[in-house]
Amino acid sequence: MQLQEKAHRILQQPVCDRCLGRQFAQLLSGYTNEERGQLMRTVVAMSIDKEGYSGAIDLSNFRGFKFYKLDANPEKKKCAICNDIFETLHKTADKVVRTGKKFEYNTFLVGTKISFDLISREEALWERVGIDYCEPIKAELNREIGKLVEKKIKPSFHSKPDINFVVHVPENKVDTQVNPIFIYGEYQKLVRGIPQTKWPSKKYKTSVEEIMAKPFMLATRGRAHKLHGLGREDIDAKCLGWRPFVLEILEPKKRKIDIKKLSKRIGRGIKVRKMRPSNISEVRKIKEERADKTYKAVVVCEGIKKSDLRKLKPLLKGLKQKTPERVMHRRADKYRFRKVHSIRTKFISKKKFHITAKCEAGLYVKEMISGDNGRTTPSVSSILDQTCMCKELDVLKIHSSQKK
Ligand SMILES: [Zn+2]
Repeated sequence: MQLQEKAHRILQQPVCDRCLGRQFAQLLSGYTNEERGQLMRTVVAMSIDKEGYSGAIDLSNFRGFKFYKLDANPEKKKCAICNDIFETLHKTADKVVRTGKKFEYNTFLVGTKISFDLISREEALWERVGIDYCEPIKAELNREIGKLVEKKIKPSFHSKPDINFVVHVPENKVDTQVNPIFIYGEYQKLVRGIPQTKWPSKKYKTSVEEIMAKPFMLATRGRAHKLHGLGREDIDAKCLGWRPFVLEILEPKKRKIDIKKLSKRIGRGIKVRKMRPSNISEVRKIKEERADKTYKAVVVCEGIKKSDLRKLKPLLKGLKQKTPERVMHRRADKYRFRKVHSIRTKFISKKKFHITAKCEAGLYVKEMISGDNGRTTPSVSSILDQTCMCKELDVLKIHSSQKK
């Protein structure tokens, strides 16, 4: 289709400059769609003056044009595609700015949700004139609202924004999606009896997550928080090694926070270090990393001699572990083979000794000791041929590549 013929067809209904120009958006850079529309409208007007008016074109498209051969000054009609929505974009931009007032942000993005009516009107036009050089109305609205908002406020338009505005067109309703803040750090848990993350029932009053999140929630007035840890220690285990984590604060109202200062307000029992801003890709890295860990276990048994502990060396050949009974409700029941990289023992009494072992990621230490009713083999129990139980467990070191 020739460009002129295309413009003729578009103008068979009343169409504004933007909607006309948008059908030629991919031709010539450096022009706005409005300018493209003005140009094409003028060309069509000229051809009417040259060839005479045939009746197919809607004359309301030419209000203000002075023809030699045609005596017409038609009424202006609303655009059949956008219903003149571009004329009220200033108001839309104002509303976006107002909606964003309760949040602190440096960067933003505007998106639109367009009514079914508007989409069908645009698609009906495309069916008649083709889509060869066009741009969708959604793209133009996003860009134009964004430009207007940017003129009114300090924060800038950005593809990875602090806040996303979603404008419903034509209802002019504005929704916000505030992106989370991520904070990296490493923690030690110096007390027993606290789960790592918020417990679903009220069984545990607090968690590592809640203790660490508290000062940050107060400062950011966020809606919620999540803790992404590099693995987790048991509720009754201390974590004396520094465990990397990313704390995520959802829907923060304030983003400019002094991380160092706030980290000093973290409550008792938890120590943190190296806290700094982070991002979602670091969360992925932390969730995916499988770090070896060194544990210290206090083991109680029925009765041993000091020399019996030497028998435990075969554990260094590794263990076959079926999913422990205690975690079966949240893990698939399957076999895994796990290595033990090193093992040291310390005889305390006939009924008590210590084991310090560096284990492959994912090894269940309590089961390495108890044997878990035969689900872990070999085990400290099976080798010593008696019931052995892990009475206390500490994580001494997390051998992570995150720590630099
Ligand atoms: Zn229009």
